[in-house]
Amino acid sequence: MGLTENEAAEKLKTEGENVLAENRQAGPVKIFIGQFKDIMVMILLGATVISILLGEISDAVTIILIVLLNAILGFIQEYRTEHTLEALRSMTAPTAKCWRDDKLKEIEASKLVTGDIIELEAGDRIPADCAVLKAAGFFSDEAILTGESVAVSKSAGSPEDTDNSLNKPNIVYCGASATKGVCRAKVIATGKHTQMGKISEMLTDIDREPTPLQKRLGELGKAVAVICLIVCAAVFGAGVLRGENVFDMLMTGITIAIAAIPEGLPATVTIALALAVSRMLKQKALVNKLHSVETLGCTSVICSDKTGTITENKMTVTELSTVSADYYFSGIGYRVSGAVTKGDDNIAVNPTAEKSLTEALRCGVLCSTAEISTQEVPKSRNRGALAGRGEWQVTGDSTEAALLIAAAKAGITRESLSGSCRVLGEYPFDSETRFMAVLCSCGSDKRMYFKGAEEVLLPRCSQYISENGAPVPMSSAVRRELAEKAAEMSDRALRVLALATCSSDTLEPNRRNLVFLGFAGMTDPPREEAKTAIRKCAAASVKTVMITGDHKNTAVAVAKKAGLLKGGLAMTGAELDALSDEELDRVIGKYTVFSRVEPVHKLRIVRSFKRRGEIVTMTGDGVNDAPAVKEADVGVAMGVTGTDVTKQAADVILMDDNLATLVSAVEQGRCVYANIRKFVRYLLSCNIGEVLTMFLGILMGMPVVLLPVQILLVNLVTDGLPAVALGMEPPEKDIMNRPPRRSAEGFFSGGLMWKIVIRGVFIGLSTLASFTTVMRLGGSLEACRTAALITLVVSQLIHVFECRSERRSLFRMNPFGNMKLVIAVVISAAVLAAAVILPQLQMVFSTVDLSTPQLLTALGFSAAVPVISSIFSKK
Ligand code: ATP
Repeated sequence: MGLTENEAAEKLKTEGENVLAENRQAGPVKIFIGQFKDIMVMILLGATVISILLGEISDAVTIILIVLLNAILGFIQEYRTEHTLEALRSMTAPTAKCWRDDKLKEIEASKLVTGDIIELEAGDRIPADCAVLKAAGFFSDEAILTGESVAVSKSAGSPEDTDNSLNKPNIVYCGASATKGVCRAKVIATGKHTQMGKISEMLTDIDREPTPLQKRLGELGKAVAVICLIVCAAVFGAGVLRGENVFDMLMTGITIAIAAIPEGLPATVTIALALAVSRMLKQKALVNKLHSVETLGCTSVICSDKTGTITENKMTVTELSTVSADYYFSGIGYRVSGAVTKGDDNIAVNPTAEKSLTEALRCGVLCSTAEISTQEVPKSRNRGALAGRGEWQVTGDSTEAALLIAAAKAGITRESLSGSCRVLGEYPFDSETRFMAVLCSCGSDKRMYFKGAEEVLLPRCSQYISENGAPVPMSSAVRRELAEKAAEMSDRALRVLALATCSSDTLEPNRRNLVFLGFAGMTDPPREEAKTAIRKCAAASVKTVMITGDHKNTAVAVAKKAGLLKGGLAMTGAELDALSDEELDRVIGKYTVFSRVEPVHKLRIVRSFKRRGEIVTMTGDGVNDAPAVKEADVGVAMGVTGTDVTKQAADVILMDDNLATLVSAVEQGRCVYANIRKFVRYLLSCNIGEVLTMFLGILMGMPVVLLPVQILLVNLVTDGLPAVALGMEPPEKDIMNRPPRRSAEGFFSGGLMWKIVIRGVFIGLSTLASFTTVMRLGGSLEACRTAALITLVVSQLIHVFECRSERRSLFRMNPFGNMKLVIAVVISAAVLAAAVILPQLQMVFSTVDLSTPQLLTALGFSAAVPVISSIFSKK
C-alpha cells in the first residue's frame, strides 16, 4: 500500500517539500548586520565620522575596533540563541503516519508527496490536502480555512479524485484538524498547492514576538536613552557657552551617551530566556514560546491530567469481574508474564474453560485499536499463563493495551481470534461519550462489542452472560450488585471498564439491550516523581489540581496515594455543571480533584481560576483539550500521548508527560526571572555610575574624568560578559519555598529601583573620589584617569557578585557558586589589567603606570562601598 521510499524520494525532487511558507530564519550575515542597528553603535559611528573629519584618526580607529569587537561578541551570542530556538522549532515540526514500502511509518510531514497514503485520527493536524479512502466517524475542523466552526463529517469518495477545491466531503485539507474518528487518505496536493498554501500568509509562525518583559525592558532602555541624550545636549550646551572647545564637548557628550545607554539589556534578556529554554529542554520540557518562561514562574495553580502525568500510564488489568466470578491477573505493568486465578482463594484457572471470562476478554481484544508486541515468543506455561522475561512494546492507548495484555495472559490474542472474528467497522472512543464499539463478523453471526465507562454502559445492559456463556435477563438485584461492585473496585483506585455485547447487523453505537460481560479493573500507580513534585508545589504555594475523566472514587483514591488530597475536596463534572460561574468562583479554591470531567469542564475550570486572579498552567492531551490549553496562562501539551492539535495550542510540551518535569519548568521560570532582575540591577547601576562620574565631573568643573575610549572599554568589559553570566545563575536554594510572584507585580518591586540608584550613585562617587584623591596626591591627569578607570571597573566587578542575591549580602554567599561568573569576571579583570599595564594598550587607552599609593587608592575606593554595605546589611 502507498508509495515506496524510492518513488517518494523521486517525487520529492520534482514536487518540492510539503511546506507552506519559506522559513524566515535570520542567516548569519543578517544577524551580523543587525549588530550595527543599535543606538550605541550609531552614536559611535557618528563619533568616528566626526573624529575623522577633525583629523583624529587614532581615536577613529580605536572606536571602530571596539565597535567591531562588540559586534562580534553580540553576533556569537545571538547566533547561538538563534540556533537554540531553531532547534526547538524543528522539534515541534509536524509528523504524519504514512504508508511507505508497505509499512506504516511516522515521517516528517514536510516529506509527504502526492500519492502517499496516510492514516489520520482524532487530534491530528492534517498535513496535506488528501482524498479520503476510508473513514470511520471522521470529522474535521476546517475553521482555519472556511471560518465554519462546526466540524464537518468526511467520508470516502473516489480514490482518483484530485480536485482539492474547498468544502468537499471526501477531501481533507492541510491545516485543518481531525476532531473525531479515524480515516485513511491519499495525498493529492502538498505545500503551496494546498488550499492552505494559497493563503499561507495567514499562518502564524512560531512565536517570535518579544515577551512582555522584553518589551517593558526595551521601553525602559529607550527612556533611559532619551533622558541621557537630553543630559548630553545640556552638558554640551553648557560647556560650549562656558567657552570650552566644541569638539571636546561633543566627544564628552557622546561619551556620556555611550556610558548611559543600557544597550546590552534587550539582548541579554533574550539570551537568558533562550538559555532557560534550552535548560528546560534538557529536563524534557519543550517551551514553544519565550514568554511562557516568564509566565511559568508566576504559576499559582497547576491543573494536571491524571493518567501519565501523575500516574505511570502503565495500566495493568488486575481483575476482571463477571456476574458469576471474580478473576485476578498477576504480573506487573507491561511484563510478559502473569497468570489468571479465580476467586479469593486464588485458584489457578484454565481460562479456556471459563466461558464468561473468555467472552469478556474477547470483547476487550476486539474492541481495541492498540498494538502490543514482544521480541521473545511468550512461553505458555501450564494452563495458559505467560512466563516471559521481557516487556510488551505498546503502541496506542494504554487502557486498551492493558486489556490486550490481560487477554494474552489467558491465551487470547488478536491473532488467535482472527480465524473466528473479523472487525467490520468501528465507532471510536471519545472522552465525551466515554465508550467505543465495534461491529464484528463472527462466523455466521454479526455482533457488536462495547467497552466503556460503567455509568454509560451498565444502564444500557438488560442481560448478562452466565457461567456457561448463555445470556440471562438482568434482575434489578443483579444490576444493584454490579453497580456496588464497580464502586468498590474504583474505591481501590482501579479504573473500571464495562464490557458488553449484542448481536447486530449494522454498527449502531446507541444500541440498548446489551448483554453485560464483565468489569475490567485496572491499576495505574502514581509516579514517585509526581509525589515529590506535588510536595514541592505545596512548599512553593502552587496549588496542584488533578483533572481526570475517571470515576470520582478512582480519582480520589489515586489523589490520596499521590498526596494530593490533603485538605482538598473532589468534584465531578456533573456537580460542576450544577454550579453557576459565580458559585464556582466562590468554591473552586477548596477543590483539588475534578473527576468525570469532559473537555468543556476544563475550560470552565481554567476560566474560574483565572477570574480569581490565579495564573493557571493547564495540561491536556486530547483534541478536545485544546481550547482549555489555549485559554490557560501556560498551556501544556503531552509529548507522548498528546495530539498535534493540543501541541499546537500549547506553550509548553512535556516530552515525558511527567508532572515533575512541569514543576521543574516552573522552578526554571522563577529562576530565570530572578536572574533577569539580577543582571538588570547590575547593568543599570553600572550605567548610572558611569553617567554620574562623567556628569558630576563636568558640573564640578573638573577635566573630563574618563575619555571616550576608556568609557567604551568599561562598557565592553563590564557590561556584556558578567551580565550574561549572571543570567546563568543556578536557582537559589529557597526559590521553591516562596510564594509565586504576582504577575501584575512591577519589575522593580521589592525596592530594586532604590538598590540600583543608590549603588549607581556610590559607584559614581567612589570613581570621582579616586580621581580627585590621585590628583591631590600630585598625579598627572592620565594617572587620575587611570585610577578612575580602575575604580570604576573593579567596583562593578565586585558589585556583580552582590547582584547574585537580593536577600543575602556579598560575604554570605559562596563566591564560586556560579563558575561562569567567576570566569567572566577573571576575563574582564585581565582585560582591564592589560589596558593599564601593557605599553601598546596604554597608548590606545591613554593609561599610565600607577605608583603603589595611586593603585591602592584606586582599589581601596572600589572595595569601600561593597564592604561598608555588607557590614550594614542584616543578612
Ligand atoms: P485521565 O487523564 O485520568 O486519563 P482522561 O480525561 O484522559 O483522564 P479518558 O481517557 O477520557 O480520561 O477516560 C474517561 C473514561 O472513559 C474512563 O474513566 C473510562 O471509563 C473510559 N475510557 C477510557 N479509555 C477508554 C477506551 N479506550 N475505551 C473505552 N472507554 C474508555
